[in-house]
Amino acid sequence: MARSVVVVGGGVVGLCCALALERRGVAVTLVDAGPRESAASHVNAGWVVPSLAEPVPAPGLVGQSLRWMLHPDSPLSIIPRIDPAFLRWLLAFWRSCNARSHRAGTEAIAALGARTMELYDDLRAAGVAFEEHRDGLLFAYRDGTLLGHDHAGLETLRPFGYPIPPLLSGDEARALEPSLADAIVGGFWLERERSVRPESLVSGLLARLGEGGTELRLGETVVGLEARDGAVRTVVTDRGRIAAEAVVVAAGAWTPRIVEPLGIRAPIEAGKGYAIDFAPPPPLPTPLRRPIYLHEARVAITPLDGMLRLAGTMELSGLNARVRPERVAALLRRTGEAVRGWPEGIATAGPGVRVWVGPRPLTPDGLPLIGWAKGYRNLALATGHSMLGVTLAPATAEAIAELVCGGRTPAEIRPFDPARFG
Ligand SMILES: Cc1cc2nc3c(=O)[nH]c(=O)nc-3n(C[C@H](O)[C@H](O)[C@H](O)COP(=O)(O)OP(=O)(O)OC[C@H]3O[C@@H](n4cnc5c(N)ncnc54)[C@H](O)[C@@H]3O)c2cc1C
Repeated sequence: MARSVVVVGGGVVGLCCALALERRGVAVTLVDAGPRESAASHVNAGWVVPSLAEPVPAPGLVGQSLRWMLHPDSPLSIIPRIDPAFLRWLLAFWRSCNARSHRAGTEAIAALGARTMELYDDLRAAGVAFEEHRDGLLFAYRDGTLLGHDHAGLETLRPFGYPIPPLLSGDEARALEPSLADAIVGGFWLERERSVRPESLVSGLLARLGEGGTELRLGETVVGLEARDGAVRTVVTDRGRIAAEAVVVAAGAWTPRIVEPLGIRAPIEAGKGYAIDFAPPPPLPTPLRRPIYLHEARVAITPLDGMLRLAGTMELSGLNARVRPERVAALLRRTGEAVRGWPEGIATAGPGVRVWVGPRPLTPDGLPLIGWAKGYRNLALATGHSMLGVTLAPATAEAIAELVCGGRTPAEIRPFDPARFG
């Protein structure tokens, strides 16, 4: 068992890993180049939603992606670039868009996320303070056929103890959220799901780790890992060198830059997502009360204390923080189509409004990388959580702590073995 561990990356996954290790008595050093506000752990919808266990690659997605690419305001945007690694990634992604992989991936993610709510309660019990809401998640659809199909798909989750919600008509959905427009023909309400304020979760975890004795090395960038005889010996940063008994790399979309020089394949693309915050929320005839997913538009609406956040868009344009105005306009337009009384021409600049972006760490099969890196006995990866990092961070952390401290690979992370990419 390692007595000291260096965790690289202070997003929600790295922070949860650090806490799980610290609680097992390990001396933890956490290194983060930020905290980077442009990291996904700050810029996300804040949903804790184990029921949304489907990996991104899905049957039919290839055709849909091609159709989406023809529309500038569709939820997906691929900015072409000549980069062999990206083209290989796209090809592998498209290969994963089949029913068998999708079902196996859904089952694996559902199994990992099964204890999520219990683990979130445990974070709070361990002294992590964060803003949390227990208003469920309302899925809203404009297309009844799609709604029926997706609702039937929830059956995959039943064996994992997820309750299947009843199908709602448009009026029943409006009874829950009166501001939904008539264009919404129905939906379903996942009553047990929760939401958190992402920035509060990151700051709460950091504060708790600081109090617990974890060494926090913030504003320090890892520039390399030195290894010998199948083990990482030293983490090299822009400020110095840290001797390592074991290392956990949880650097989100930046992970390949850190581990690939060691010959480890970590095919992660940045799936840029956008968030628009309104504090206070825009004036509506009836304020939005609960998180809503506008399914066809892939827009997430999250009411938080004194604020409303819109989040969405999947932009494959490499690892950058550039904001494209057309994506912002599309998010607003789609929201306006589904929310009654949404202010036309609402400003996206000025006091109380913030537009920001963050990279989701996306693997080509849509599954995270959790476990020992191939060829290294003391280097673990905890990354690639794509759209579900906030949800899966505590369960990932438990598994990593078991791996590093207990020397055992928990069954629920076997499907996420980083070695599957060779
Ligand atoms: C718009 C949007 C909405 C989303 N909504 C949800 C949601 O509702 N629910 C959900 O579960 N998930 C959601 N996600 C996904 C979720 O946000 C991510 O999966 C998760 O935040 C990934 O966390 P992470 O810790 O792996 O990576 P990150 O948050 O990217 O953190 C990586 C960290 O590594 C650090 N780092 C990078 N390089 C180095 C280096 N060389 N040295 C030191 N440190 C380094 C960075 O500074 C950063 O802090 C959403 C994402 C987006 C973008």
